[in-house]
Amino acid sequence: MSAHATVRKDLSGVLEASMCIGCGACQFADPTVEVRLDPVKLIYEPSHASNATAASVCPAVAVDFEGLQAWRFPGAEQTTFGVVHSVLLAQSTNRDRNLKASSGGLVKELLLHYLDQPEVDGVLALGHVDGIEFETRLVTDPAGVDELPGSIYHNLAQPKAIELLHQLEGKYVLVAIPCQLEGIFSYIRTLAPELADKIHTTIGLLCGWQYSHHALRAIAEFKKVDYDAITDISFRGEGPVGRLRMWTGDQVHAVGRRVDFDYQVAFDRSFNTPRCHTCINHSNYLADIVVGDAWLPSTVSSTTGVSLLVCRTAEADAAVRVLEKEERVKVVEVSTAEIEESQKRRVVFGDFAYAYADYLDEIGVHHPDMVGPNRPAAELAPRKDVAKFYRELTRKLALQRAGRYKYLRVRKATVELPRHMAKYLDWFFVRILRVKSLTGRRKEVPRAQLREFS
Ligand SMILES: Cc1cc2nc3c(=O)[nH]c(=O)nc-3n(C[C@H](O)[C@H](O)[C@H](O)COP(=O)(O)OP(=O)(O)OC[C@H]3O[C@@H](n4cnc5c(N)ncnc54)[C@H](O)[C@@H]3O)c2cc1C
Ligand code: SF4
Ligand code: SF4
Repeated sequence: MSAHATVRKDLSGVLEASMCIGCGACQFADPTVEVRLDPVKLIYEPSHASNATAASVCPAVAVDFEGLQAWRFPGAEQTTFGVVHSVLLAQSTNRDRNLKASSGGLVKELLLHYLDQPEVDGVLALGHVDGIEFETRLVTDPAGVDELPGSIYHNLAQPKAIELLHQLEGKYVLVAIPCQLEGIFSYIRTLAPELADKIHTTIGLLCGWQYSHHALRAIAEFKKVDYDAITDISFRGEGPVGRLRMWTGDQVHAVGRRVDFDYQVAFDRSFNTPRCHTCINHSNYLADIVVGDAWLPSTVSSTTGVSLLVCRTAEADAAVRVLEKEERVKVVEVSTAEIEESQKRRVVFGDFAYAYADYLDEIGVHHPDMVGPNRPAAELAPRKDVAKFYRELTRKLALQRAGRYKYLRVRKATVELPRHMAKYLDWFFVRILRVKSLTGRRKEVPRAQLREFS
């Protein structure tokens, strides 16, 4: 990695390249920093470049995966999937909870299990505040667990988790996306080791991307929803895929997430927070247990949703087995092949992200310095593809920041249409027709094994 592209002395590179993901760690490293929404980029960013101490904990500057993993899981074997104890498909047997949840309702089942343990004082998980605002909250009462939202896909300011860890005494189960955990653990390891003992278990979400608030503004404009009047938002629930729902008071505005063309425009990859394109930790290497969607041909007929779990420790696996014994979840043991199939190579191994980081280096654009355990397995995307992506992204971000969402819709309906259609064809052939199994490239989990799943 060339030194010029990764700025480590402060957060200036993060600001220039719009690489902040809003974890909030810098605020605690330097109390003069405030993480706030940039009115043009519509992502959360630090108020100023701060100093080397803030930079030392910032996951948009660098993440020491090797050191953090050794610190989190001492002595554990590293694989290209991170530390793996077991990989499971699982589903809550509580149909209502499962239907409301994003995938199989496993996060909430696990939270309820942990709240029952005498050594756990509470859980720290994202809750709704107001409008499109969400922040980590302390939950000690089981009734509070089912009030937590499903997956929130837009960019949030997340300093509350560290704030609560500082304020509270005792032991807590923490739910977080991967880059949030990178910030929290970098901060704790470097500047606040006394907080480490307050974390009993981390439940990490698998995370493919998040979106800037431009995505929400664009979909609100396309669907004629008053953006400033949104009182609540939900991206998932009602089955495996779910609809985006925006509430303005009593009125609900629902948008299909799989086929609605406006949704496809507003939630195009160019609306992601820019760091997501460099992310190599979608599988949450720092969490004890990782929960994602099982997007597999064998789970495609699920009417409620199935979770893919990666237990990184024996304790995490044991927690799931207790739930299974109590018949609160159904579980099928699978292998790391299911992580790859469910999430695609670029998500698991960073084929695009590592190549993109090399390209940003080459052109002198700041990006987080990150080498994950998946690096040996990465098959780098061709330079011409990442260069083209960068050119297109730069142009699209300028259009978004100028509020020209309709132009992006026209573009998707014309020049980008073949690419857009190819995505659907790929989904149809791989997930529905099971073309990989038919051609012997993959062995599916037999449907009989999943017959008890709804
Ligand atoms: C931004 C984002 C992107 C994701 N991308 C993928 C993906 O590409 N592939 C995949 O397989 N899975 C992805 N997931 C995970 C997936 O959507 C589900 O969250 C996961 O499978 C857990 O489902 P569940 O039914 O057990 O949880 P749910 O019952 O839906 O509970 C979700 C839990 O996560 C917490 N939470 C929700 N949003 C956030 C957030 N933004 N930050 C921190 N905590 C949050 C809530 O408090 C709740 O406790 C993503 C999640 C997020 C938040
Ligand atoms: S990524 Fe986190 S630590 Fe870095 S600037 Fe953003 S909020 Fe601060
Ligand atoms: S894709 Fe990576 S950078 Fe983006 S929100 Fe998810 S964990 Fe963070």
